[in-house]
Amino acid sequence: MTRYIFITGGVVSSLGKGLGSAALGALLQARGYRVRLCKLDPYLNVDPGTMSPFQHGEVFVTDDGAETDLDLGHYERFTGVPARGSDNTTTGRIYTSVLSRERRGDYLGATIQVIPHITNEIKDFIHEKEGTADFVLCEIGGTVGDIESLPFLEAIRQFSNEVGADRAVFVHVTLLPYIPTAGELKTKPTQHSVKELMSYGIRPDILLCRADRNIEAEERRKIALFCNLDERKVIPALDASSIYEVPLQYHAEGLDHQVMDSFGIKDIPNLDLSIWEDIVHRIKEPETTIRIAIVGKYTDLTDSYKSLNEALAHGGIANNAKVELKFIEAETFENEDPTPHLQRIHGILVPGGFGERGVEGKIKAVQYAREHNIPYFGICLGMQMAVIEAARNLCGIKGASSTEFGACDDDVIGMMTEWVKDNKLEERSKNADKGGTMRLGAYPAMLSKDSLIEKIYSSREISERHRHRYEVNMDYKDTLEGQGLIFSGMSPDGKLPEIIEREDHPWFIGVQFHPELKSKPFDPHPLFVSFIEAALKQSRLV
Ligand code: GLN
Repeated sequence: MTRYIFITGGVVSSLGKGLGSAALGALLQARGYRVRLCKLDPYLNVDPGTMSPFQHGEVFVTDDGAETDLDLGHYERFTGVPARGSDNTTTGRIYTSVLSRERRGDYLGATIQVIPHITNEIKDFIHEKEGTADFVLCEIGGTVGDIESLPFLEAIRQFSNEVGADRAVFVHVTLLPYIPTAGELKTKPTQHSVKELMSYGIRPDILLCRADRNIEAEERRKIALFCNLDERKVIPALDASSIYEVPLQYHAEGLDHQVMDSFGIKDIPNLDLSIWEDIVHRIKEPETTIRIAIVGKYTDLTDSYKSLNEALAHGGIANNAKVELKFIEAETFENEDPTPHLQRIHGILVPGGFGERGVEGKIKAVQYAREHNIPYFGICLGMQMAVIEAARNLCGIKGASSTEFGACDDDVIGMMTEWVKDNKLEERSKNADKGGTMRLGAYPAMLSKDSLIEKIYSSREISERHRHRYEVNMDYKDTLEGQGLIFSGMSPDGKLPEIIEREDHPWFIGVQFHPELKSKPFDPHPLFVSFIEAALKQSRLV
């Protein structure tokens, strides 16, 4: 029997609902349960793929090729359960599906309405998860009180009524702001948020109260009284120094126990939190610190590189090192010498990205890493930058560029119009729609014998997630190889370069995929472990 946990948010956005859901998932797993996490997003985009990372943060790509909300990244990192496209939906997707059915004539004679047509579609999304886990945790994006969230709240209210209260529990995440002049945490916004939720017919079973300091018993009592709850169901969720401490912290406050109590589960299985204890121990007591420069474009909003930041931290955990990240706006190098910014850095990383802005600066960062023997890691666009740098500075192809940035003399990077997926040819025209048309999701790659990459993966065949439209042009392969660039990973048909490395450099790797999406604190990605290890060696030299 699948049980459902609905997680809503109140008072303000950015309370870490996604993280809270992921941590609760990890705690239930630690008790031996199978979990599945999913997210309902109230915005109108069909998926976040077309949104700017400045607005929405990173787009998380699943193995099955869906562009999803970054919270799915948290879910996967905390539970190890690979996220699926069917774990995320949006208002836009729900309406698209209902409206296309309306056009087809599936509802002939009926007036299409939010209730029941939209709410039924939302409930179907949740029902689809039946039987896939012991607990399905379903996060509702946005904040209670937003117009956009209403159909979702109505749908989960109906859902709970239909499956029965013993199979659906509501967790509401709220904020207790500290008012310095009063010297206390305020409970009123929480009371109002719960009142609002109750006006939709939802009575939260558990409150997860975010606060920046200890919540006194008196305040807990007050919230419990106003919100019709047992005090033990008012759970303090204090700021943590590391996100990986959150499962331990929530457990100590009784969250998982209270969730099971709300379901009426009597025989609560024991739990094993040793993996989280080990991770937290390594984070808190690193043996050394290394500095990595990320030369990118979305450096103001670190959520844009969420999975990347985490994967680097995982590489650090594996090496007992603290990884300090220095975000550098790529455009800086277009006017300034990179030396003062990079000379005390132990590893340089150019992450994925889109569009022309900052490209010349990224190419300079590659050149600096190559010439100074500093470990270089190029991810997706970062690999393309490394190829352009080699073409221009080593092969003498001065006009080398990518057609992504406009017509150029030498299209060393060009648009892909066809590739093979699951033995079938995928084709795109140059004018195809932008949404959901990239080469997306998991694709295999074959690694060359005795290459650095083969050593890192300890395997000749790998599978990694992709999200790109452009690709290294094979016409230039021989010329580039003549200058020390090795194509050490290719698609199985030998047509698409997936990995490059340099034979004359201690650690120089570019990958056309996004390895950061699959890294977990308890299962760090080998590329990040190896990159941080190389950076550690570099730190002993500078
Ligand atoms: N903009 C490049 C492309 O579409 C790289 C994409 C990325 O870095 N994810 O190929």
